[in-house]
Formats: sequence, structure tokens, C-alpha cells
Amino acid sequence: MKSRHFVTPSPAEVPVIAALRKAGFLKETDGRMATITCPMCQAIATYAVPSEQEPYGEVKCACGLSIIQLLEELGMELHEVRCCPTLNISRVPIHEIVDAAEELLAETGKVVACGRSLYTADYRSGVLAWIDEADLTRLLSQYGVFLKHDARSKSDLPVDPPARMVHLLMSTQYKQSVPQVMGVVRQPFVLTDGSLCLTPGYHTDLKVLAAFDPAPFRKFAWTGKVSASQAEESARFCEDLYREFAVEPSMKSTVLCAGLTAVQRGVLDRAPMILIQSNISGIGKSTLARVFALLVSEVPPSEISYPNSAEETGRTLFSALASAPACVLIDNIVGTLADYPALCTCLTEPLYESRVLRTSSTKQVSTRALFVGTGNYVVPAADMRRRVLSIRLVAPDEHLEQRRFEREDIDEFVRKHRPELVMHYLRIAAAYLQSGATVDCAPLSGLHNWSRRCREPIQALGYDDPALPMLKLLEEGDDDQVYRLQLLQALRHFFGAEAFTVSDIACLEQRQMLDALANVGVLKGGQLSREKLGWFLKGLAGFPIKGLLLERLGKHPQYRVKELK
Ligand SMILES: [Zn+2]
Repeated sequence: MKSRHFVTPSPAEVPVIAALRKAGFLKETDGRMATITCPMCQAIATYAVPSEQEPYGEVKCACGLSIIQLLEELGMELHEVRCCPTLNISRVPIHEIVDAAEELLAETGKVVACGRSLYTADYRSGVLAWIDEADLTRLLSQYGVFLKHDARSKSDLPVDPPARMVHLLMSTQYKQSVPQVMGVVRQPFVLTDGSLCLTPGYHTDLKVLAAFDPAPFRKFAWTGKVSASQAEESARFCEDLYREFAVEPSMKSTVLCAGLTAVQRGVLDRAPMILIQSNISGIGKSTLARVFALLVSEVPPSEISYPNSAEETGRTLFSALASAPACVLIDNIVGTLADYPALCTCLTEPLYESRVLRTSSTKQVSTRALFVGTGNYVVPAADMRRRVLSIRLVAPDEHLEQRRFEREDIDEFVRKHRPELVMHYLRIAAAYLQSGATVDCAPLSGLHNWSRRCREPIQALGYDDPALPMLKLLEEGDDDQVYRLQLLQALRHFFGAEAFTVSDIACLEQRQMLDALANVGVLKGGQLSREKLGWFLKGLAGFPIKGLLLERLGKHPQYRVKELK
């Protein structure tokens, strides 16, 4: 902790041991355990220093000496015995108290922040648990002593961590002392220059918590440069993992790229969702999804069913992301992968925020998880198309029975060979990043880092651009846009360059017009809703679509379709 006039750091020597020495009861100590003369019976007794289980330390003597009796004998108060910093908060401005309390939390080595929200972090498993005001009060009380001047007794007395301080600490935007965690990594990773990092713990520069045991990975580690031929060999090793899946032949590089995305997800600011599509059930979609989940982490993914509404999506994703899972798995999506705002946010923004049920507080969760979805004939809707990397599994025969894998349990295979697979994947990225080469590929907005680390390294080895399925989807345009264009074409067909009103459109009894109107959703029970059409045209006016532009004329709205040259 910073040096502050109202903060006394943790005592250098355990206070009870210092007092025992001063009182002449101490015989010897190694700093953790002390042999003492019992003040009650004068026999040999022991004192163990404070721990999380025994915050005042533990005393043992044949006479049954208790810690309270020992402290009375030494003239000590309970709060004077603890080995933690003391904050004397009388007459200290609240912002200084809040800063000091945050430093106290940082010193515990257990608390991190995702944006504004505080979490306890398990540095071994990478699991984060959100801290509410009650937890925070408890933590501060456990790791610090708060004193306040008491006028009546004219002394400083211990108090609970003040509620106002706790509240401010929960809600302040910028946490200065507590590590800011944007992502959790469950395996080694490569830095932007392609060098390998095998060190667990918090990485300040990347704002990443690396929670893994490096031992099993060391065997497959490398030093120095990775050559192109080594990277090719690694790609072959990784590719073999998918040999039994019925991946559409043109998507071999996409599958490889999905695996590379999984392995590096923790250090990527953004990554597309992996969508595994197929034409029948039982072809191995879920199995493949599980392979990707295992490449991110051995911890089981957070599994959700595809929500039915925008509101439900928010709630579902919020709770799925609460513990910073490595992977969010959405199995069996039916129909359309809708562009619900919450899902779009989770695939674009580093944090997702929502109100905590039945409280006035909000909570921020990190969105840095690999999203994997599966479904038969599922299609991403408008805004999802630029956020989804599709992989197709195609059954040549629709009556294919439940697919059997030669490697009976591919889950088990990946688990067993995970360190080797991860390191081979990392080699592919390392070789490319080290080489400083660039690959010429169509830019994808917001996915620069992902391209650099997951897409280009594969292309550099001579594979197809793994993002081709995404680019193709984007090129096809979305259905809504096609319908808007069809309406403009129909209007141009019937009215030419003349101006028209909503009523003029309503008077047309033409099949082509009705179809175009039905597709843009302005019919109500088979009849044209003039109100809906009015709003629709108002929204469409001014935006050109493939050379046609709807112009709005005057206050009493008339429209005209103009051809742009
Ligand atoms: Zn005794």
C-alpha cells in the first residue's frame, strides 16, 4: 500500500510475538511458531501466528490457556493482534479512504476488476466471482482493521468498513490499484512479436489473467524462431484432428482457423462466433463444438439454449458470462441466428453491463469468451453476418446414421493431447508473427487482431482465406436489403419518375406491388397498413440502394424514386 498518514502497514513482526518477547515469555520462534512460557502455569506452551483460519493465532498449553487469556495477560486488544494494515479513518476525506481501501484489496492478491465491477479471482482455475457490497464489506473487514476515534472513551476503536466507502468502491469508474482483467487465458500464449509466454499470473500489459500450469506445455515449447516448415508441420498436426468430421472441403482452412481462434481467444480483443451448420442431426456438430471448447479450456463451457427474445438474450448471456467462462456454447439453434443487441454487444464490446436483479446496482462482465453455436440450416441474420465464422458439416446421404468416430472418444483424445495441440496451434501463429510478413486479405471491420493472429497465419501457409464463408455471406447482402430494393424497383416500375403518395400506392392492385409490400412487412392481415407504409418510406428515404434512391418531397409527403447515375 501507498504510504498515507492514516494507514499503518501490516506489522513487520507478528504483534503477539513482539509482546511475548517484551513481557519475557518468549523462548524461541521461527517467525511462524513460537515456544513460550505459559503465563498461567509456567509450563512450555506454543503460539502459532495468525492465519486465515485463525486470525488471532493459536495458543496451546496443557493447562488449556486460551488466546483471550493470553491477550489479557499481555494487555492487548483483539484488533491489535491481527497481521494486516490499519486504517484510522477519523477525519479523513472519503476519496482518500476509498483509494486506500482499493489498495488494501489489491494487496490481498485475490481481487480483480472487469471494468467497474470487482471480482475475486482464483488464479489457479481462472474462475472469477462477482463481489457484491456484502462480500466487499466482509473482505475489507477480513484484510484490514478500520479504526475511528471515539470521543467518549477518548481512544481509537475498531469499526466495520463504512458502508459509504464500500458503496463508492463498488461504483467508481476507474479502479487504479486492483488489476484490470479483460480476459482469462487457460494456456500459454504468444505475444504480438510471436514470442512464447509460459508464465502464469497477471499480465499488466495485456490485462490478462493467465491461469494455467505451465508444466505439461513445457515439453512442447520452443525457443527462438519457428520456421515456415515447422509451422506447416504443426498445421498438418492440427488439421488431422478434424479428419473424421464431414467438413465441407472448401472449409478446411476455416476449421483450422476456428481452432486457432479457440486457442488464442484469451488474448484476442474480439473474435467471431463459430457457427457449425449442417443439413442433418447426428453428424458431429456438437462434438466439433466441444473440441473447440476444449481447445480454449478444460473447464466445461457455459452452455445455454438459444434465447427466444432480445430481452431473454440479455439475461441469458449476462448469467452465462458471470464467472468469466472460456467458452459459451449455444447448441441446436433453430432457424435464424438473430441479431439480438445483447449478442451483438457480446461479440463486439469488451464488457457487457446489466442491472443485477432486485438491486439498483449494475454489474459488468467480460465478454472475452469463445462463442460457439450449432444448428441445422441455421443462418445468421443481418448484423450477425459480420460476427460469425461459419463451418458447414455436410452429410452426403441424408439417411446417414448417427456418425461413429474411429477415435471413439474425441473429447478424451483432445483432453489427453491438449498441451501438444495447443502448442502446435501456437507455433502456427508464432511463425507468422515472427516473420513480420503480411498477407493480402479483405479487411473485416473490428477484427484486425483476430485476422493477424488467426486468419493470416493460416493463409500464409498456403491455405484458402479462412474468412471466405464470412466474406461470402457479406457479399450476398441481407434479405431485408434485397426486399427494400425490390420495393424500390416496383415503385419505379409503376410510377417511373413521377411523384406518388402512400394513397397512390394503396390504390394499385398489382400482384408485384403487393408481394414487394408484403416482404417489407407493411401488410396487416393481408391488407396494406397505410400507417406502417408511411413510416417505412420515411425511414427508407435518402438511403441509396444499388442505384435507386427514394426522395421525400414536401411536408405533405410525396415520394419519388430517382435513378442514380
Ligand atoms: Zn499453561
